[in-house]
Amino acid sequence: MTRRLLPGRLVLATHNPGKVVELAELLAPFGMDVVSAGSLGLPEPEETGTTFIANAELKALAAATASGLPAIADDSGLCVDALGGDPGLFSARWAGPDKDFSVAMQRVWDGVSTASKARAPTAHFICALCVAWPDGHTESFEGRVDGTLVWPPRGRNGFGYDPMFLMDGKALTFGEMPRAEKEADNHRARAFAMLVAACL
Ligand code: IMP
Repeated sequence: MTRRLLPGRLVLATHNPGKVVELAELLAPFGMDVVSAGSLGLPEPEETGTTFIANAELKALAAATASGLPAIADDSGLCVDALGGDPGLFSARWAGPDKDFSVAMQRVWDGVSTASKARAPTAHFICALCVAWPDGHTESFEGRVDGTLVWPPRGRNGFGYDPMFLMDGKALTFGEMPRAEKEADNHRARAFAMLVAACL
């Protein structure tokens, strides 16, 4: 049976302040008192998994074992069909040490063949969320949104690959959408809805 999260302290196993704010807002209505792994001084494990879920699990387990509290971690990325699923697990790393996503988006577009470009290349975002407990138990969820790539990138909202991603059925890229509209339905929101239904 799925294990439920009881109201109380919960570690967010991320050192990214943006993710902490977003997840803390989502968890507040459930009586969760959220503290970040960064503020507890917990080390960041290396992301050595071969799937999004494996990476989310290893981050959540490391934080839960080190803190003695339940912990939540996520892992996400963009998968482009014409690139065999790349950049996938390496989505953040494609932006290089300067975290320059105009470079990463150009690399994606340059890698897509002319034939695929003509047909609007299909892609999806994945977000894996894992809750781990100090005894090693885990519950994991995966949300996905499908869409196509546009070029040139459009919009200055959001982050990462947002300006080149057009979700199916939408006229605006994630980079053009107001923040509230993107956050209402995307891969993270879908994974979080599954977590809420199962664990909260
Ligand atoms: P993570 O922090 O290891 O999960 O890295 C996720 C990377 O995937 C980010 O740095 C972005 O490049 C990309 N990514 C994940 N979700 C999104 C999104 O909603 N919009 C744009 N890029 C995203």
